Amino acid sequence: MKKITMLLIAAVLCLSVFTAAAGGSNEEGDSPARKTFVTIGTGGVTGVYYPTGGAISKMVNKKSDEYNLKVTVESTGGSVYNVNAIMNGDLEFGIVQSDRQFQAIKGLADWEGNAQDKLRAVFSIHPESVSLLASDESGIYSIADLAGKTVNIGNPGSGQRGNAIDALNAVGLDWETDLKAEGLKAAEAASMLQDGRIDAYFYTVGHPNGSFKEATSGAKSCHFVPIEGADIEAMLGEFPYYAASIIPVSTAYPGASNPGDVASFGVKATLCTSADVSDDVVYAIVKEVFENFEEFKALHPAYSTITKESMLAGLSAPLHPGALKYYEEAGLK
Ligand code: GLU
Repeated sequence: MKKITMLLIAAVLCLSVFTAAAGGSNEEGDSPARKTFVTIGTGGVTGVYYPTGGAISKMVNKKSDEYNLKVTVESTGGSVYNVNAIMNGDLEFGIVQSDRQFQAIKGLADWEGNAQDKLRAVFSIHPESVSLLASDESGIYSIADLAGKTVNIGNPGSGQRGNAIDALNAVGLDWETDLKAEGLKAAEAASMLQDGRIDAYFYTVGHPNGSFKEATSGAKSCHFVPIEGADIEAMLGEFPYYAASIIPVSTAYPGASNPGDVASFGVKATLCTSADVSDDVVYAIVKEVFENFEEFKALHPAYSTITKESMLAGLSAPLHPGALKYYEEAGLK
């Protein structure tokens, strides 16, 4: 009995020494407060959301000990997935297209009759264009040419799926009956185009990005298809969140077979969170990105046109109070 007691004491001692060592070597240091972990939902790894999540986390994690905060990044199915995951508490943050933010807060489209009242805006990031890339052999040179073709419009959680359907509707094409619409994730689309398994794919994304670089540097030559014309203009007038845009093909994708830039329409990437996420966490993220703005901006070429002011435009959900606190302190609001 005595032996067992001694053994138990020894075991408990061992365990506490081990725990102390672990506590000393983890990132919490001597801080008595437990570190808060938050995750940013992004998109496919060949898009711009994924490196954007990385850029934001990089800025904040440098001060991880000061804030007792660690930001991690997750690759996801995109904007619609991110809104839903923020709302059900699976993610604290997500990058979300501005049109999707508008629809979610107003209870439209994927959230018809189900307004996401707790969705909160943090800031806008880079502009995104609804981009359509087709193989040369497909013979697709206008959006109307998509009739009868195999086209990836995007997985159901993605932002581009709704944009593709809007653009198709604008030119009188029904995605369910007039073409063979695929629901592939963005990261799979470039190789599917190169393999000849799809004729074209839509991707609402900042430029340059890994997906289009991959697709335009393969053996099968391909080109960007303009999304323009009277029908598209009428659609832009109908939806407040769309604006005309230009895809910088000549500088971003020298491997594309069309040398010139092409017209399309677009939205903005925005960082969203939930009203349930603490003010301190949101404040820390906003502060680190804004106070180190030039360093942040240098982290991805898709940020070339952004300014601090542009990062406060295009938000339709209420600003999270932690973000508002920083903007007021910085004189931006
Ligand atoms: N806009 C896309 C979406 O919402 C993602 C683009 C990206 O990953 O850069 O699904």
